[in-house]
Parts: sequence; structure tokens; C-alpha cells
Amino acid sequence: MEKNLSIGTLAAAPGEKVQGLLPIPHTEIEVPVTLINGAGSGKTVLITSGIHSCEYVGIEAAIQLAGELDPASLNGSLILIHPVNVPGFESRYPTLMPQDNKNLNRVFPGTREGTLADRVAHFFEYSLYSQIDFYIDLHCGEIFEDLTPYVYYVGAADNAVSEAARQAALHVDVPYMVKSSATTGAYNYAGVLGIPSILLERGCAGRFTQAEVDADKKDVLNILKHLGLLQGAPELRHRPVDLTDLVYLMPARHGLWYPEVKAGDLIARGQRLGVVKDYFGHVLDTYCAEYDGVVLYQSATLWTDDFCELITYGKFAETAGMVR
Ligand SMILES: [Zn+2]
Repeated sequence: MEKNLSIGTLAAAPGEKVQGLLPIPHTEIEVPVTLINGAGSGKTVLITSGIHSCEYVGIEAAIQLAGELDPASLNGSLILIHPVNVPGFESRYPTLMPQDNKNLNRVFPGTREGTLADRVAHFFEYSLYSQIDFYIDLHCGEIFEDLTPYVYYVGAADNAVSEAARQAALHVDVPYMVKSSATTGAYNYAGVLGIPSILLERGCAGRFTQAEVDADKKDVLNILKHLGLLQGAPELRHRPVDLTDLVYLMPARHGLWYPEVKAGDLIARGQRLGVVKDYFGHVLDTYCAEYDGVVLYQSATLWTDDFCELITYGKFAETAGMVR
């Protein structure tokens, strides 16, 4: 049965699209939200972007999707937020919420009594997760990262929830996918609550191109087709292959970072990944790959510290008949 779609002060009747700034309860911030209530009935899908403030490809893709998607051709409903971390976005303050210096993707479940990030997480749980069937979170490498496209799906969830997320991730046109075991991210915690969820990574380094934005939009449309909200068959070039045992390599000592590989490179066990030096050119530490795999992202700044991994890489899952 067709239903009204509402969040706080915004409401859309069946066949209607409504856009506006939504005050987050118990905070002083407003976020841009688009509600698209399809003419036909179906699943309700949440699409967020800019949980990390300067991840522009996902933010722009969500803005364009919000403008272009037509309720007349939709079976089901969409809630889009573009972006979530408005204060960080408008101050070009990467990753964190400037008011409390918290990473919103590490504070779930939130609390109404906490600082801003906690309160936003609380809003997600009680105003959004209570009415959705699926969640797509659009990310990107941050302004200090070099990244190759890939997709995460929830792993800390019931098997059926994780499998539903995995099936959707298979409709994302990227080479790699990763089953996440985290629980404190926005999409992770949705999985804990029983909502199949994925996180898409594409783009990096404070840039965005229309080609990357188009690729994000196509991925979202493919998933909406897979979930039955849109007509037509998903179009794919890649079938993402599983990466496991990710190494999130942090520097043993702070210093200047000289990577010897780049995002997307295949690496061999024992291969040098890069070195950290002091200001006088002395090598402090040399980093080598623990196994054969692929570089997903790395720090793209000369200085490195505990804020960002030097390199994150993954291992090809040992799946029979897998095509690399
Ligand atoms: Zn992110």
C-alpha cells in the first residue's frame, strides 16, 4: 500500500518529491534532505553522502540524483541526505565534525545527550533506520587520500542481512568489495539493527569529476533496479571480487611519507610500500607488504601521523574459480 514519507518537518505524499533543510533534533544544524515518494509501492532506501565532510564525489552524486530521480517512475521511496556533515563541508574541515572533532562514522549508536556527532547518530537511528529497508552510504577518499574505487558491505549482522547487502554490492561497478566487521559506522550500525547496508568508495584528494559522479549515480541506479525500485536490468562491467584481511597500516613514528605504490596497484608479499623519513632525509621506518594483494587507499600527503593510515591494502579471497 502506498504511504506517506516523512522525517521531522518534511513530508512527501505518494508521487511527490520534497526538498528542504531539515533541522536535526537536539542540535543547531540543518541538513539538505530530499524525499522522493514513488508513485508505486516498494522498498524505502536511505542514501547518504558527506558523513565525511570533504568526500566530494559522493556528495555531488547524491545532489544530482536528488534532482534527477522522478517519483513517477519509482516503486518505493528514497531519502537522500546531501551532505550529512554540513558544518565540516562548509568549513572544508576534513572527516570530522568541527564542533566536537568526532568522526561520525565511529560514534554509532549515538545518544541524545552527547556532543553533535552523537546526536546526529541518534537521529539516524530513531528517525531514519526506523523506516528504511536498505541503506547506501556514499563515500570517497578524503582530501588527504589517494583511493581506488571499491565497496564495503555489512558483516556484523545476521547472515541474511549480510547476504542481502552482499548481493547489492555485487551490483556496484567496481573491481573490489570488502565485508566489514565494524559496528560503529552509520551503515555498520544499520546492519546491526537488521538493515542491509553498503558503503561505496570512489574518488579522492578533494577533487570530483563528472565521470566519477556519473559512475556513482550508475551504481546507485543499478542497486535501485536490483531492489525493485526502478525498472530495467542493472548494467555492469565488473563483478567485484572479495578482498579480506585488510591491513590498515598506521605509521610506527610520525614523519614524512614517501609511498612507492599507488592506490589500485597490485602488490606482492615483501614488496616495499614506502618509507617514512625525518626532516633530514633519514629513513625512520620502511614498510613492506605482508601478503600478495591490492592497495585500496593511502595517505597522499607528505606528512603522516595517527590521523590517516599510510596505506590500506587487502588480500584476494581464496575463492574457487575467482577471476582477478
Ligand atoms: Zn569516508
